[in-house]
Formats: sequence, C-alpha cells, structure tokens
Amino acid sequence: MNQPGNPRSIAVIGGGLSGLAAAWRLGHAGAAVTLIEKSARTGGAVRSERHDGFLCEAGPNSMLLKSQLAEDFLDELGLTSEIVDASPVANKRFLVKNGRVLPLPMSMGGGITTPLYSPGGKLRLLAEPFIKAAPADQDQSVAGFVTRRMGRQFLDYGIAALVSGIFAGDPEKLSIRYAFPKVWNLEARYGSLIGGAIKLRKERKRSGEVAYKPRMMSFPDGIETLTRRLAATASADIRTDAQPLSLARTDAGWQVGWRDASGEHDRRFDALVVSVPAHVNPGLPWAQEIAAEMAAVPALYYPPVTTLVLGYRREQIEHPLDGFGMLIPLVEKRRVLGAIFSSTIFPGRAPDGHVALMIFIGGATMPDCATPGESGAVSLATGQLTDLLGIHGEPVFTSATHWPLAIPQYNVGHGDFLASLEGLEKRWEGLHFCANYRGGPGLSDCLDSARAIANRILQR
Ligand SMILES: Cc1cc2nc3c(=O)[nH]c(=O)nc-3n(C[C@H](O)[C@H](O)[C@H](O)COP(=O)(O)OP(=O)(O)OC[C@H]3O[C@@H](n4cnc5c(N)ncnc54)[C@H](O)[C@@H]3O)c2cc1C
Repeated sequence: MNQPGNPRSIAVIGGGLSGLAAAWRLGHAGAAVTLIEKSARTGGAVRSERHDGFLCEAGPNSMLLKSQLAEDFLDELGLTSEIVDASPVANKRFLVKNGRVLPLPMSMGGGITTPLYSPGGKLRLLAEPFIKAAPADQDQSVAGFVTRRMGRQFLDYGIAALVSGIFAGDPEKLSIRYAFPKVWNLEARYGSLIGGAIKLRKERKRSGEVAYKPRMMSFPDGIETLTRRLAATASADIRTDAQPLSLARTDAGWQVGWRDASGEHDRRFDALVVSVPAHVNPGLPWAQEIAAEMAAVPALYYPPVTTLVLGYRREQIEHPLDGFGMLIPLVEKRRVLGAIFSSTIFPGRAPDGHVALMIFIGGATMPDCATPGESGAVSLATGQLTDLLGIHGEPVFTSATHWPLAIPQYNVGHGDFLASLEGLEKRWEGLHFCANYRGGPGLSDCLDSARAIANRILQR
C-alpha cells in the first residue's frame, strides 16, 4: 500500500546492487517501482557462479559490513542466518617486499619488529602527531597525504597496496578526502591521525557511543545471494533486457520510455533514480536540456581490471595461505595487484583437497596488464606468483573475468563531480543518482547510500 505523502511511482534505471537496494527500500515503503535493467540479469558487478566445485566470484568476493544499518538491511532481507563470517585467520594479511611474502603488522609490537619498514621509517611514523595539518579545503592525493604525515615507506609498503585492494586505484591520483573520508577527517578535525584516533576513542567512551565493529562476510553460494534476494523479494516491477528510450521531465513528473521483451512503453513517474555507472549517464536518452547539463558533468576514470580464480590441489602450493591474501606494492614491479586466498577466508570455495586463489590484474596503476584473454591472464598471474607462493605445476581450474571499466576512481577533483550531480538533482525535481561513485564503492557503502537516497525520496 502506498503510504500517505510518498511518491506514488518511481523509475529506477540500472539493476546493480545500488539500483536493486534503492528499488527494494522504495517498494517496501509502498511506492510503485519499475526497475529498468539493460542486461539479461540483475546484480551488475556482483556475480557468483559455481564451476567444477569452485565458487567463482567475478567481482566482489566478500563484503565488509561497515554499519549497523547495512547489517539490519541484510536482516530485513532474511539473510542473517545465511551469513558466513570470514575465518579469523583472514585477519592476517600479507605484503610482498623484495620478493618475500611478509605479514602486515597488526599490533604495536608487530609494528616495531616488522622488517617491512626500516628503523628510520618507523621513527618517521612516530613523528606523525607532530606534523602540521594541511588546510582542510585542500583536496590532496592519498600519496601526498600519507607521505607528508607518515613518510614514503608507509605509503609504498602499506597504504598504496591497500588502495589497490579497495579501488584498484592510483594513490598519486585518488583523493584522501573522497576515497578515505574517515582518515581525512582525523586530520581535518584533530590535526593528527594517531592523536585523532586516540581522542575519538576517548570521546566515544565518554558519550557511551559504541562504534560498529566491521564484519567481513559472504554467503555459502557467494555474494550474489544478496542481489538475488533483493531482486526476488523487491516489491518492484523488474524489467531485464530493457533499453531506456527517453527520459524527460514534464510538469507532471518524469516521462520514461523504454523497450523490453513485451514491447515499447512510455510512462509517467513521480521520481527517477539513476543507478548506472557514471560513464553511462551522459549517453542515456535524456531530453535535450538535461542532456546538455549531463554532458558538462566531469568524467570519472574507471580502470580495467581482470579477475582470475585459480584452483590448485593443496599440495601444489607451499605457502600455508594462512591469511586474507597478499598485496603486491607497485614498487615491487610485479604485474599483478595481489591475490586473495579465497578458500582460506570462506568454506566451500574449493573442492576437498583443493585451494582457490582470486587474482587481480590491471587497475589504475597497471591498466595495460588487464586483458580479456583468459590464457594470457593465467600465464601472467602464474608467472608472477609461482616464486612468491611456492606453486608447483599448472592450476587444475581457471576462470577469468575482464572488467573493461571496473571501479570508479574517487580521484582529486571528485568534489566537482559530486557538486555537478547535486546541481542536477536540485534543478530537476525528482531526479536522484544512486550508484557506487557516491558514498563509497564497497557493497556495504552501496547499501547505506541506497537507504539514504530512498529515505530522501520518501521524505519529500
Ligand atoms: C572486480 C571488482 C571487484 C570488487 N570487489 C569488491 C569487494 O570485494 N568488496 C566490495 O565491497 N566491493 C567490491 N567491488 C565493488 C562493488 O562490487 C561495486 O561497487 C558495486 O557492486 C556497484 O554496484 P552498482 O549498482 O553501483 O553498479 P553496477 O554493479 O555497475 O550496476 C550498474 C547496473 O546498471 C546497468 N546498466 C548499465 N547501463 C545501463 C543502461 N543504459 N540502462 C539500464 N541499465 C544499465 C548495468 O547492466 C548494471 O546492472 C568490486 C568491484 C569490481 C568491479
């Protein structure tokens, strides 16, 4: 039933996690939602398939729940009992330095003894609280920020690799403010990261606020369980293989035309939620005036990424694979970003007696290494990883996915992009953008952003 005051009808363009989550929330609040998805399936970047006993995640392989609201969303979807938490072993992460696979320090003691940083590098890190804060309005790169506050070693053998693990990004270009707002905020608010983290903890203790403890999880059949459940239980009319034909604002609302298997349609909606990648936005069939404004929105860079699932018999790999995975800093000059030890993190990722690795190639720092050819990607990956992990022989299973335009980069200047979108939303009543280029690219971020946008629409 439509609740009083709610928009009666809403069109959602794009059925990835963002569009599905927004459609789900709006539909369950009583709106009549029509979701128009170009491809034959919903889920977008989320795709989990089982082949020969190996669970293959083509895109996201795990979800780091970052808020109670995101966890509550899973509960509303009836997914709580299906959650599989990451093994505690996955708290350990590895980093490659000078061809050696070293554990990342997780404690003060580990930080003192780790061979990842020289004594000079460790002392430089301790000077962090005494480094002057940059002006808060300055949009700095992650590399500039980390080098200034913590020294170059901590960038090269720490943050730079983490950045490639999250954004497949280039720390020289990513914006600290937009890509890692919590870290940026520590400097902007407290003048120091170490001092800020201590003060924040004290403030929380005083106010009784309990910080949400992030939770790394998936489902027995992989992350796609989430998007499948959203699509199956959304109170929405989901049209796949559907092509938007016209998007126009009239005095009566949004006039949306599209074509799908049942023919051509032209309907009026009270609101329009656009959930396609940013590079698709300008090419949507906007009415002339909006098209001109969309064309003026700054473009975002989406680097190519190739992901590989490699399966081996357990005895083929000498490394104990006792962690989340291994990141390879750019300065090591290997042509692979890193490897996730999938079958260590979650059960059921590989048949008995076997292990599964997920390899990432390409990204903003090595776009030319990403390749659509599976055999090329497999030989590149195995060539780069054999000595690091002590691999013997060829993989017994391989599966590759090429993402020509993988993840939006929140680079320096991202604020101009966001401001342009906000301008469009203000000028064109009922228009909303809900996708991973806003509020964070992680799955948990997408759930939170979709909730926030749905609430905004419902409160209008
Ligand atoms: C390789 C890779 C690994 C990742 N790993 C992780 C991870 O481990 N953990 C994590 O939290 N996140 C990860 N992410 C990020 C996360 O998967 C994405 O940010 C998230 O799934 C994006 O959802 P979305 O709905 O915003 O966009 P998308 O998934 O891109 O969905 C957009 C949808 O719009 C549709 N569309 C496009 N054009 C049109 C059109 N003209 N008309 C109608 N529909 C259209 C597309 O078909 C698609 O379904 C990863 C991403 C990639 C690519």
